[in-house]
Amino acid sequence: MLSDAEVQRILIIVAHPDDVDFSAAGTIAGWTDAGLEVGYCIVTDGDAGGHDESVPRAEIAPLRRKEQTAAAACVGVTDLRFLGYPDGMVEATLGLRKDLARVIRQVRPDRVVCPSPERNYARLPPSHPDHRAVGSAALDAVYPDARNPFAFPELRTDEGLDAWTVREIWLPGGPAPNHWVDVTGTFDRKVAALRAHESQTAHMDNLADFLRGWLARSAAQGGLPEGRLAEAFQVIEAG
Ligand SMILES: [Zn+2]
Repeated sequence: MLSDAEVQRILIIVAHPDDVDFSAAGTIAGWTDAGLEVGYCIVTDGDAGGHDESVPRAEIAPLRRKEQTAAAACVGVTDLRFLGYPDGMVEATLGLRKDLARVIRQVRPDRVVCPSPERNYARLPPSHPDHRAVGSAALDAVYPDARNPFAFPELRTDEGLDAWTVREIWLPGGPAPNHWVDVTGTFDRKVAALRAHESQTAHMDNLADFLRGWLARSAAQGGLPEGRLAEAFQVIEAG
C-alpha cells in the first residue's frame, strides 16, 4: 500500500452527492490537512433524491450540486466535477467509462476512491444500482482505459489527454476491507459535511449518533483501540 507521502493527487468517483461524505469524508479531511490534492467526480446530480415533495424536481439538481460544494468545503476540497448523468439510471456503459477515463487523464491521480461494484448482501443501501454501475465503470476506467493510449484514442488525438496509470484504488465498503483510517479527529467535519446536504439529512435528528455508532463498530472491526472511530476501505494495488 502506498503511504500518503508517496501520493500527490487523489480522485474520488461517486454516483451521487453525499455518497463521498457518508463513506470517506473523515479520511479526506485528513488527506487535505496533510496537503494532498483531492478532487471529486460526481456522476449524477442526485436528482431523484430528497424528501420534501414541495420542492419542484427541476430544482433538485442545482440544489444538490450546491450542497455538495458546501460539504466539500468542510473537508478542504474545492475541485468538483459533475458529469450530470440522470440519477437512478446509471449503467456501466462504454460512454461512462470514457467519461471517467477522461477525468482520470485530466486529474492524473495516484489514488482513486470509488464504490464497490459488488452487491453487499448484509445491507442493501450501499449496493444502490448506481453505486455498482459507477464502481464497475470506474474500475474499468482505471484499468485498462485510462492507462492504455489506444483505448478511446480520441481522448488523445482530439483532447490531448495522454494515458495515465493510477497506482492504487480504495473501495469504501468493499467486500473485503483491509484498511481502517482513524477519523476520530475529523469526525466533527464529517458530520458538518453531511449536514451541508440539507435536503438529505435535515430530517435526521440522530445523524451524529448514527455515524458515531457505525464508525465505532468499524474501528472495532479494524482492531483500533476502544473509543476510536474509523472509516473502512478495501485497498487494491493497481500500478
Ligand atoms: Zn448514493
